[in-house]
Amino acid sequence: MTPDKEFAVIGLGRFGSNLAETLHSMGYNVLGVDVDTEKVQDNVDNCTHVVQADATDEDTLNSLGVSNFEVAVVSIGHNLEASALVTLSVKELGVPMVISKASTETHGKLLQRVGADRVVFPERDMGVRLANHLALDNIVDFLEVTPDVSIIEANTTPQMHGHTLRDLQLRAKYDINVVAIRRDNGEVEVSPGGDDPVQEGDILIVLGENEAVRQWQLALTGKNR
Ligand code: ADP
Repeated sequence: MTPDKEFAVIGLGRFGSNLAETLHSMGYNVLGVDVDTEKVQDNVDNCTHVVQADATDEDTLNSLGVSNFEVAVVSIGHNLEASALVTLSVKELGVPMVISKASTETHGKLLQRVGADRVVFPERDMGVRLANHLALDNIVDFLEVTPDVSIIEANTTPQMHGHTLRDLQLRAKYDINVVAIRRDNGEVEVSPGGDDPVQEGDILIVLGENEAVRQWQLALTGKNR
């Protein structure tokens, strides 16, 4: 990511305002747009520029110079028509990367059809993540790669400690891959070899199909579901 990269965040609800604030605090230029004056006032410190405007009007977006932005995030979650119209407009204005927030699967499909380069589902993803935490005791974190494949961070259990990755045979038994080990001191060993022993306090970062990961976790905890 180039340091001078500029972001337009359209819709400053909970998602948009947190996104704008984080990017702005990292030093990026952020243009925030919201139709609601109160939201605009609330976000004065979270953006480089914040403008009160109805983003469904393409001329307005054009006059704000949105076409010059490399990335636009359309974070209008609960107004399907507005979010689709804005996604279409920013794409037509030539923004190379348009990321749109969807609140349902149907909404997501619509956003893809009208040209979003990427569709995000924050509520769904957070729900899935939390469910995995709750259902599988060892899971520390969870990142969806595709709906069926994830990267998870899992605590190691006493029966693993002192054994090498080769001993554990995770690939052969469960078809999952350890892509990194986070050691107790915070160091991360990327692409660990088969001779690497697992130590107490290690966290395994594992890539695999969700069902494979689940089977591995169930075998570890002896739970039968
Ligand atoms: P969240 O769940 O992130 O809070 P919302 O869908 O509730 O998301 O918030 C969307 C934001 O987008 C609101 O602040 C709303 O005022 C803004 N918004 C809705 N329609 C438009 C529009 N046409 N132009 C600009 N901003 C809009």
